[in-house]
Amino acid sequence: GLLALAARRGARFMPGTTVTGFSPTAGGWKVEREGGPPLTVDAVVVATGGLSVPNTGSDGRGLEVLAGLGHTVNPTYPALTPVVAEPSRFGSLAGVSLPVTIAARDGARSASATGGFLFTHHGYSGPSVLDVSHVVVRSRTEADAGARLVIRWTELDEKGWEAALTPDGPRTVAGALRRALPERLADALAELAGVAPSRTLAQLRREERLRLIGVLVRGELPWTGDEGYRKAEVTGGGVSLAEVDPRTLASRRHPGLLLCGEVLDAFGPIGGYIFLWAWATGRAAGIAAARRPPERPQPLK
Ligand SMILES: Cc1cc2nc3c(=O)[nH]c(=O)nc-3n(C[C@H](O)[C@H](O)[C@H](O)COP(=O)(O)OP(=O)(O)OC[C@H]3O[C@@H](n4cnc5c(N)ncnc54)[C@H](O)[C@@H]3O)c2cc1C
Repeated sequence: GLLALAARRGARFMPGTTVTGFSPTAGGWKVEREGGPPLTVDAVVVATGGLSVPNTGSDGRGLEVLAGLGHTVNPTYPALTPVVAEPSRFGSLAGVSLPVTIAARDGARSASATGGFLFTHHGYSGPSVLDVSHVVVRSRTEADAGARLVIRWTELDEKGWEAALTPDGPRTVAGALRRALPERLADALAELAGVAPSRTLAQLRREERLRLIGVLVRGELPWTGDEGYRKAEVTGGGVSLAEVDPRTLASRRHPGLLLCGEVLDAFGPIGGYIFLWAWATGRAAGIAAARRPPERPQPLK
Protein backbone atom coordinates (compact mmCIF):
# COMPACT_ATOMS: atom_id res chain seq x y z
CA GLY A 1 0.00 0.00 0.00
CA LEU A 2 0.83 3.69 0.02
CA LEU A 3 2.25 3.69 3.56
CA ALA A 4 4.60 0.78 2.80
CA LEU A 5 5.80 2.50 -0.36
CA ALA A 6 6.44 5.74 1.56
CA ALA A 7 8.34 3.81 4.26
CA ARG A 8 10.50 2.11 1.60
CA ARG A 9 11.33 5.57 0.24
CA GLY A 10 12.51 6.68 3.70
CA ALA A 11 9.40 8.35 5.14
CA ARG A 12 9.22 8.38 8.93
CA PHE A 13 5.78 8.32 10.58
CA MET A 14 4.97 9.88 13.94
CA PRO A 15 1.34 8.95 14.57
CA GLY A 16 -0.44 10.51 17.53
CA THR A 17 1.80 13.57 17.42
CA THR A 18 0.10 16.94 17.78
CA VAL A 19 1.88 19.80 16.08
CA THR A 20 1.60 22.97 18.16
CA GLY A 21 3.36 25.39 15.82
CA PHE A 22 5.90 25.85 13.04
CA SER A 23 8.15 28.77 12.26
CA PRO A 24 10.82 29.63 9.67
CA THR A 25 14.50 29.38 10.63
CA ALA A 26 17.62 30.49 8.74
CA GLY A 27 17.76 27.35 6.57
CA GLY A 28 14.35 25.73 6.91
CA TRP A 29 11.59 25.25 9.48
CA LYS A 30 11.20 24.37 13.14
CA VAL A 31 8.14 22.26 13.93
CA GLU A 32 6.96 22.29 17.55
CA ARG A 33 5.08 19.27 18.83
CA GLU A 34 3.52 18.02 22.02
CA GLY A 35 5.56 15.56 24.08
CA GLY A 36 8.85 15.82 22.20
CA PRO A 37 11.64 18.15 21.11
CA PRO A 38 11.01 20.34 18.04
CA LEU A 39 11.81 18.91 14.62
CA THR A 40 14.11 20.69 12.19
CA VAL A 41 13.00 20.26 8.57
CA ASP A 42 13.64 21.72 5.11
CA ALA A 43 9.98 22.24 4.21
CA VAL A 44 6.53 22.01 5.83
CA VAL A 45 3.39 20.80 4.05
CA VAL A 46 0.32 21.95 5.99
CA ALA A 47 -2.48 19.40 5.52
CA THR A 48 -4.29 19.93 8.83
CA GLY A 49 -7.79 20.30 7.33
CA GLY A 50 -10.52 22.68 8.43
CA LEU A 51 -12.83 22.64 11.44
CA SER A 52 -15.39 20.08 10.28
CA VAL A 53 -16.26 17.11 12.49
CA PRO A 54 -13.77 18.12 15.21
CA ASN A 55 -13.52 14.61 16.68
CA THR A 56 -11.55 13.59 13.56
CA GLY A 57 -8.69 15.78 14.82
CA SER A 58 -9.25 18.83 12.64
CA ASP A 59 -9.65 21.62 15.14
CA GLY A 60 -8.40 24.55 13.07
CA ARG A 61 -5.01 24.83 14.76
CA GLY A 62 -3.22 24.74 11.42
CA LEU A 63 -5.23 27.76 10.29
CA GLU A 64 -4.32 29.62 13.48
CA VAL A 65 -0.60 29.01 12.92
CA LEU A 66 -0.88 30.09 9.28
CA ALA A 67 -2.65 33.30 10.32
CA GLY A 68 0.16 33.90 12.82
CA LEU A 69 2.65 33.54 9.95
CA GLY A 70 0.92 36.37 8.10
CA HIS A 71 -1.37 34.38 5.79
CA THR A 72 -4.83 35.79 5.05
CA VAL A 73 -7.36 33.35 6.49
CA ASN A 74 -10.80 34.14 5.06
CA PRO A 75 -13.58 33.66 7.65
CA THR A 76 -14.47 29.98 8.01
CA TYR A 77 -17.98 28.50 8.00
CA PRO A 78 -19.52 25.02 7.98
CA ALA A 79 -20.48 23.79 4.49
CA LEU A 80 -22.24 20.64 3.27
CA THR A 81 -24.08 20.45 6.58
CA PRO A 82 -27.71 19.45 7.27
CA VAL A 83 -30.29 22.20 7.75
CA VAL A 84 -32.35 22.34 10.95
CA ALA A 85 -36.10 23.09 11.17
CA GLU A 86 -37.37 22.99 14.75
CA PRO A 87 -40.17 22.69 15.49
CA SER A 88 -40.60 21.09 12.09
CA ARG A 89 -43.74 21.38 10.01
CA PHE A 90 -42.64 18.10 8.43
CA GLY A 91 -41.42 16.26 11.56
CA SER A 92 -43.68 13.27 10.90
CA LEU A 93 -41.97 12.74 7.53
CA ALA A 94 -38.55 11.82 9.03
CA GLY A 95 -37.01 9.11 6.86
CA VAL A 96 -38.88 10.06 3.66
CA SER A 97 -36.47 10.71 0.78
CA LEU A 98 -36.86 11.72 -2.85
CA PRO A 99 -35.02 13.58 -5.63
CA VAL A 100 -35.78 17.33 -5.73
CA THR A 101 -34.46 20.61 -7.05
CA ILE A 102 -33.70 23.13 -4.32
CA ALA A 103 -32.48 26.72 -4.35
CA ALA A 104 -31.14 28.84 -1.49
CA ARG A 105 -30.89 32.59 -1.88
CA ASP A 106 -30.16 35.60 0.29
CA GLY A 107 -29.38 39.17 -0.73
CA ALA A 108 -25.74 38.40 -1.55
CA ARG A 109 -25.45 34.81 -2.75
CA SER A 110 -27.39 31.88 -4.12
CA ALA A 111 -26.98 28.20 -4.92
CA SER A 112 -29.19 25.53 -6.41
CA ALA A 113 -28.92 21.77 -6.64
CA THR A 114 -30.80 18.78 -7.99
CA GLY A 115 -30.44 15.50 -6.15
CA GLY A 116 -31.45 13.47 -3.13
CA PHE A 117 -33.43 15.10 -0.31
CA LEU A 118 -34.07 13.52 3.09
CA PHE A 119 -36.43 14.57 5.89
CA THR A 120 -34.65 14.07 9.22
CA HIS A 121 -35.95 14.30 12.79
CA HIS A 122 -34.40 17.76 13.06
CA GLY A 123 -34.86 19.14 9.54
CA TYR A 124 -33.47 18.30 6.12
CA SER A 125 -30.42 16.54 4.69
CA GLY A 126 -29.34 14.65 1.57
CA PRO A 127 -26.97 15.77 -1.20
CA SER A 128 -29.19 18.54 -2.58
CA VAL A 129 -29.63 20.16 0.85
CA LEU A 130 -25.94 19.83 1.72
CA ASP A 131 -24.96 21.42 -1.60
CA VAL A 132 -26.90 24.64 -0.88
CA SER A 133 -26.39 24.68 2.90
CA HIS A 134 -23.48 27.14 2.84
CA VAL A 135 -25.88 29.86 1.65
CA VAL A 136 -28.17 29.13 4.61
CA VAL A 137 -25.22 29.04 7.03
CA ARG A 138 -23.69 32.29 5.79
CA SER A 139 -27.04 34.09 5.73
CA ARG A 140 -27.26 33.54 9.50
CA THR A 141 -24.14 35.57 10.22
CA GLU A 142 -23.46 37.65 7.13
CA ALA A 143 -26.86 38.70 5.71
CA ASP A 144 -29.65 40.96 6.99
CA ALA A 145 -32.20 38.16 6.70
CA GLY A 146 -32.09 34.36 6.56
CA ALA A 147 -31.82 32.79 3.12
CA ARG A 148 -35.00 31.54 1.44
CA LEU A 149 -35.08 27.84 0.65
CA VAL A 150 -37.35 27.13 -2.31
CA ILE A 151 -38.01 23.59 -3.46
CA ARG A 152 -39.46 21.89 -6.53
CA TRP A 153 -40.59 18.52 -5.28
CA THR A 154 -40.73 16.65 -8.60
CA GLU A 155 -39.48 16.99 -12.16
CA LEU A 156 -42.83 18.51 -13.17
CA ASP A 157 -43.07 22.27 -13.71
CA GLU A 158 -46.27 24.38 -13.67
CA LYS A 159 -47.41 23.06 -17.05
CA GLY A 160 -46.68 19.49 -16.06
CA TRP A 161 -48.74 19.80 -12.88
CA GLU A 162 -51.58 21.59 -14.72
CA ALA A 163 -51.80 18.48 -16.89
CA ALA A 164 -51.39 16.05 -13.99
CA LEU A 165 -54.17 17.78 -12.02
CA THR A 166 -56.67 17.83 -14.88
CA PRO A 167 -59.99 16.31 -13.69
CA ASP A 168 -60.00 12.62 -14.49
CA GLY A 169 -63.11 10.73 -13.35
CA PRO A 170 -62.94 9.82 -9.67
CA ARG A 171 -59.18 10.60 -9.32
CA THR A 172 -58.46 12.42 -6.07
CA VAL A 173 -55.80 15.00 -5.23
CA ALA A 174 -53.97 12.32 -3.22
CA GLY A 175 -54.20 9.93 -6.17
CA ALA A 176 -52.68 12.47 -8.57
CA LEU A 177 -49.92 13.57 -6.19
CA ARG A 178 -48.96 10.05 -5.14
CA ARG A 179 -48.14 9.21 -8.76
CA ALA A 180 -45.11 11.51 -8.45
CA LEU A 181 -44.43 11.74 -4.70
CA PRO A 182 -44.07 9.46 -1.66
CA GLU A 183 -47.53 8.95 -0.12
CA ARG A 184 -47.01 10.76 3.18
CA LEU A 185 -45.35 13.72 1.51
CA ALA A 186 -48.11 13.94 -1.11
CA ASP A 187 -50.74 14.23 1.62
CA ALA A 188 -48.65 16.71 3.64
CA LEU A 189 -48.15 18.99 0.63
CA ALA A 190 -51.85 18.92 -0.25
CA GLU A 191 -52.69 19.91 3.31
CA LEU A 192 -50.02 22.62 3.23
CA ALA A 193 -51.78 24.06 0.18
CA GLY A 194 -55.09 23.94 2.09
CA VAL A 195 -56.53 21.21 -0.13
CA ALA A 196 -57.96 18.03 1.41
CA PRO A 197 -56.17 15.06 -0.24
CA SER A 198 -59.44 13.13 -0.47
CA ARG A 199 -61.13 15.64 -2.78
CA THR A 200 -61.49 14.73 -6.43
CA LEU A 201 -59.60 16.78 -9.01
CA ALA A 202 -62.96 17.77 -10.49
CA GLN A 203 -63.90 19.43 -7.19
CA LEU A 204 -60.82 21.70 -7.12
CA ARG A 205 -61.43 25.40 -7.67
CA ARG A 206 -58.94 27.24 -9.91
CA GLU A 207 -57.30 29.11 -7.03
CA GLU A 208 -56.90 25.86 -5.08
CA ARG A 209 -55.25 24.21 -8.08
CA LEU A 210 -52.87 27.17 -8.49
CA ARG A 211 -52.04 27.18 -4.76
CA LEU A 212 -51.28 23.47 -4.89
CA ILE A 213 -49.09 23.90 -7.97
CA GLY A 214 -47.24 26.75 -6.21
CA VAL A 215 -46.42 24.47 -3.25
CA LEU A 216 -45.30 21.67 -5.59
CA VAL A 217 -43.12 23.80 -7.86
CA ARG A 218 -41.95 26.69 -5.65
CA GLY A 219 -42.52 25.42 -2.13
CA GLU A 220 -41.00 27.49 0.65
CA LEU A 221 -39.06 25.29 3.06
CA PRO A 222 -39.03 26.72 6.59
CA TRP A 223 -35.75 26.38 8.52
CA THR A 224 -34.36 27.60 11.82
CA GLY A 225 -30.66 26.71 11.81
CA ASP A 226 -27.98 24.28 10.69
CA GLU A 227 -26.01 21.37 12.15
CA GLY A 228 -22.76 23.38 12.01
CA TYR A 229 -19.26 21.92 12.04
CA ARG A 230 -20.48 18.91 14.02
CA LYS A 231 -21.88 17.41 10.81
CA ALA A 232 -20.31 19.58 8.10
CA GLU A 233 -18.49 17.53 5.48
CA VAL A 234 -16.22 20.45 4.70
CA THR A 235 -15.12 23.86 5.96
CA GLY A 236 -15.67 26.92 3.79
CA GLY A 237 -13.18 29.79 4.03
CA GLY A 238 -9.52 29.28 4.92
CA VAL A 239 -6.26 30.52 3.47
CA SER A 240 -6.80 32.76 0.45
CA LEU A 241 -5.99 30.97 -2.81
CA ALA A 242 -4.19 34.12 -3.96
CA GLU A 243 -1.49 33.34 -1.41
CA VAL A 244 -0.36 30.02 -2.90
CA ASP A 245 1.25 29.24 -6.23
CA PRO A 246 -1.44 27.21 -8.08
CA ARG A 247 1.13 24.85 -9.67
CA THR A 248 3.10 23.93 -6.56
CA LEU A 249 0.83 25.02 -3.69
CA ALA A 250 3.85 26.85 -2.28
CA SER A 251 3.11 29.74 0.05
CA ARG A 252 3.75 33.12 -1.53
CA ARG A 253 4.65 34.44 1.92
CA HIS A 254 7.28 31.94 3.11
CA PRO A 255 9.71 29.72 1.17
CA GLY A 256 9.54 26.04 2.09
CA LEU A 257 5.91 26.26 3.24
CA LEU A 258 3.26 24.40 1.24
CA LEU A 259 -0.50 24.28 1.81
CA CYS A 260 -3.02 21.72 0.61
CA GLY A 261 -6.57 20.43 1.07
CA GLU A 262 -9.12 21.97 3.34
CA VAL A 263 -6.87 24.63 4.91
CA LEU A 264 -7.28 26.45 1.59
CA ASP A 265 -10.38 28.53 0.82
CA ALA A 266 -12.06 26.15 -1.64
CA PHE A 267 -14.76 23.50 -1.57
CA GLY A 268 -17.11 21.90 -4.06
CA PRO A 269 -20.37 20.00 -4.21
CA ILE A 270 -21.03 16.46 -3.00
CA GLY A 271 -19.63 13.89 -5.40
CA GLY A 272 -15.96 13.34 -4.59
CA TYR A 273 -14.79 16.80 -5.68
CA ILE A 274 -13.49 17.67 -2.20
CA PHE A 275 -11.48 14.46 -1.96
CA LEU A 276 -10.09 15.22 -5.41
CA TRP A 277 -9.09 18.72 -4.25
CA ALA A 278 -7.32 17.33 -1.18
CA TRP A 279 -5.54 14.59 -3.14
CA ALA A 280 -4.54 16.75 -6.12
CA THR A 281 -3.27 19.65 -4.02
CA GLY A 282 -1.58 17.24 -1.58
CA ARG A 283 0.24 15.51 -4.42
CA ALA A 284 1.40 18.78 -5.97
CA ALA A 285 2.53 20.12 -2.57
CA GLY A 286 4.40 16.90 -1.75
CA ILE A 287 6.23 16.88 -5.08
CA ALA A 288 7.16 20.56 -4.66
CA ALA A 289 8.34 20.00 -1.06
CA ALA A 290 10.69 17.23 -2.20
CA ARG A 291 12.33 19.40 -4.85
CA ARG A 292 15.86 20.62 -4.06
CA PRO A 293 16.41 23.52 -3.92
CA PRO A 294 12.79 24.37 -3.08
CA GLU A 295 11.10 26.16 -5.95
CA ARG A 296 10.51 29.87 -5.32
CA PRO A 297 6.88 30.85 -5.85
CA GLN A 298 5.87 34.05 -7.59
CA PRO A 299 5.82 36.67 -4.83
CA LEU A 300 2.58 38.39 -3.82
CA LYS A 301 1.89 41.51 -5.85
C1 LIG B 1 -18.10 12.95 7.51
C2 LIG B 1 -17.39 13.42 6.26
C3 LIG B 1 -17.72 12.86 5.04
C4 LIG B 1 -17.08 13.31 3.87
N1 LIG B 1 -17.43 12.77 2.68
C5 LIG B 1 -16.83 13.20 1.55
C6 LIG B 1 -17.16 12.63 0.29
O1 LIG B 1 -18.00 11.74 0.19
N2 LIG B 1 -16.54 13.11 -0.81
C7 LIG B 1 -15.60 14.10 -0.75
O2 LIG B 1 -15.07 14.50 -1.79
N3 LIG B 1 -15.25 14.65 0.43
C8 LIG B 1 -15.84 14.22 1.58
N4 LIG B 1 -15.48 14.77 2.78
C9 LIG B 1 -14.49 15.85 2.80
C10 LIG B 1 -13.06 15.31 2.80
O3 LIG B 1 -12.96 14.18 3.66
C11 LIG B 1 -12.12 16.40 3.32
O4 LIG B 1 -12.32 17.62 2.65
C12 LIG B 1 -10.68 15.97 3.11
O5 LIG B 1 -10.42 14.79 3.85
C13 LIG B 1 -9.74 17.08 3.55
O6 LIG B 1 -8.44 16.58 3.51
P1 LIG B 1 -7.30 17.32 4.31
O7 LIG B 1 -6.10 16.44 4.16
O8 LIG B 1 -7.20 18.73 3.91
O9 LIG B 1 -7.77 17.32 5.84
P2 LIG B 1 -8.25 16.14 6.78
O10 LIG B 1 -8.68 14.94 6.00
O11 LIG B 1 -9.22 16.78 7.72
O12 LIG B 1 -6.94 15.71 7.54
C14 LIG B 1 -6.33 16.57 8.44
C15 LIG B 1 -5.46 15.73 9.35
O13 LIG B 1 -4.59 16.59 10.07
C16 LIG B 1 -4.59 16.18 11.41
N5 LIG B 1 -4.28 17.37 12.23
C17 LIG B 1 -4.98 18.51 12.35
N6 LIG B 1 -4.36 19.36 13.17
C18 LIG B 1 -3.23 18.74 13.57
C19 LIG B 1 -2.15 19.11 14.43
N7 LIG B 1 -2.12 20.30 15.05
N8 LIG B 1 -1.15 18.21 14.64
C20 LIG B 1 -1.16 17.00 14.02
N9 LIG B 1 -2.14 16.61 13.19
C21 LIG B 1 -3.17 17.47 12.97
C22 LIG B 1 -5.98 15.65 11.68
O14 LIG B 1 -5.98 14.78 12.78
C23 LIG B 1 -6.27 14.94 10.37
O15 LIG B 1 -5.79 13.62 10.40
C24 LIG B 1 -16.10 14.33 3.94
C25 LIG B 1 -15.76 14.86 5.20
C26 LIG B 1 -16.40 14.42 6.34
C27 LIG B 1 -16.01 15.02 7.67
